Amino acid sequence: MSKSMVRLEPIKYHVPLARPKQGVAGKTGFWRTEKPIVDNEKCVRCYLCEIYCPVNVIRVEPETGVTIDYDYCKGCGVCSDVCPVNAIRMVPEE
Ligand code: SF4
Ligand code: SF4
Repeated sequence: MSKSMVRLEPIKYHVPLARPKQGVAGKTGFWRTEKPIVDNEKCVRCYLCEIYCPVNVIRVEPETGVTIDYDYCKGCGVCSDVCPVNAIRMVPEE
């Protein structure tokens, strides 16, 4: 087989990351003054928001897109800053 005919297989990754959990401060999302809102039609599934969220509350699924656990999201805006297609915007918390 020539080099040009080598087929690359998809890589599955499993990363052991901690998930936020209720502690003495309760569900810490109440600290938030701004909230990230995702437009999953714009999202290109690059996973940058999931990788960079400092409290690991974002999940990106190829089929459904991005979900955010607002019980623990602090509203820092990092996900919005790293998104290459501006699919996440920060809005004032109500
Ligand atoms: S605003 Fe901050 S804490 Fe909330 S989902 Fe985005 S990166 Fe994570
Ligand atoms: S950073 Fe933006 S484009 Fe990438 S997965 Fe998150 S929302 Fe989608």
